[in-house]
Amino acid sequence: MSLLNVTNLGKRFGGNVAVDGVSFSVAPGELLALIGPNGAGKSTTFNMVNGQLAADSGSITLAGQELTGLKPRQIWKQGVGRTFQIAETFASLTVLENVQMALISADNRLFSLWRRAADHKADEAMDLLRQVGMAAQADRPCSVLAYGDVKRVELAIALANRPKLLLMDEPTAGMAPKERNELMALTKQLVLQRGLAVLFTEHSMDVVFAYADRLIVLARGRLIAEGTPAEIRDNPQVQAVYFGT
Ligand code: ADP
Ligand code: MG
Repeated sequence: MSLLNVTNLGKRFGGNVAVDGVSFSVAPGELLALIGPNGAGKSTTFNMVNGQLAADSGSITLAGQELTGLKPRQIWKQGVGRTFQIAETFASLTVLENVQMALISADNRLFSLWRRAADHKADEAMDLLRQVGMAAQADRPCSVLAYGDVKRVELAIALANRPKLLLMDEPTAGMAPKERNELMALTKQLVLQRGLAVLFTEHSMDVVFAYADRLIVLARGRLIAEGTPAEIRDNPQVQAVYFGT
């Protein structure tokens, strides 16, 4: 049973068709990679699922609920999470405080009550930090963390809203291979433990082939292939798009 169903999605910018009749689905417990060359329509597809862009045509449902036409905040409330980069203003807060704030925001508490609300959220925040391997660094300011560790905190922040589906647009961009693998292994573990569904884009084919359960390939706005890493690797159409063979 799939969780996210995207059907015949379309988006154009002026005369440029960015996404052209794309359909796919993601199931709970599944890591689905969206790949394709630059300009293929990956980010545009993402931004329609999270509500930042309105689709011109097609439908997007989560657990049977129509998301098309909803605002980003409403879509977030329905259970679509995404990893945000920790804003500079929050970098001076500790790891623990950032996750506490995310939990409070998920509860819709008033920010002015944050000090009081935070006390109640410390245990829950620590639990999330344990899950991403950051409990030992809970009291450090985010500004001093290694890049890979910031990414772990961002993951904990996204999980604070208990998403059913998590969207990650190039989660490992700018990371060294070792950090990349650690972040993806952690993501995979969370997917399996929580039955989370993840839709992610990724440039590194090593990462995609090692961690994705299934791949969809976009080229010029169209879905040209779909399958397991092994199927995609051997697909001549995909090889043509990437290597011009
Ligand atoms: P990808 O993420 O796969 O690199 P994008 O979804 O960013 O691709 O872009 C798909 C196409 O849509 C490209 O041709 C791009 O130039 C165009 N595009 C994306 N966003 C906009 C925008 N806001 N305005 C106009 N054209 C856009
Ligand atoms: Mg992009």
